[in-house]
Amino acid sequence: MTEQDLKFMRRAIELAEKGMDSNAGGPFGAVVVKDGEIVAEGFNQVTSKNDPTAHAEVIAIREACQKLNSFQLKGCTVYTSCEPCPMCLGAIYWARPDRVFYACDHRDAAAIDFDDSFIYQELKLEITDRSIPFSQLLRAEALPVFEKWRNNGQAIKY
Ligand SMILES: [Zn+2]
Repeated sequence: MTEQDLKFMRRAIELAEKGMDSNAGGPFGAVVVKDGEIVAEGFNQVTSKNDPTAHAEVIAIREACQKLNSFQLKGCTVYTSCEPCPMCLGAIYWARPDRVFYACDHRDAAAIDFDDSFIYQELKLEITDRSIPFSQLLRAEALPVFEKWRNNGQAIKY
């Protein structure tokens, strides 16, 4: 951990407060950094955009990928004011940054009623035991699309 890390985390915390104070959404902020520079910033905008996926990390990751013209964040570090929820954790794994720093943890978030531990519990259950029903349908009709992908020499694999 360096002075720079502290500076970038303070910016993420500042964004969390700024987003909250402007009624954009919950008190969460994130920045993506590459080569010592902020590439993108985000703060939670779930309620103002009516977008349940508009978490700070997702917004920052989307903007960083646009700016870097890449679908991955190789060489980047994500600073987030709170330990990522399961959705953002998934987005981070897809984006593949080098490293993540977080400030508050999931217990701190649960204490202000942002309790994502329920989703973490659901992940461990069999698909049939989850609270939202998931039912498999038309696998045989969907599989040929996967075959086409496998055999497509032009596709950009990731
Ligand atoms: Zn999230």
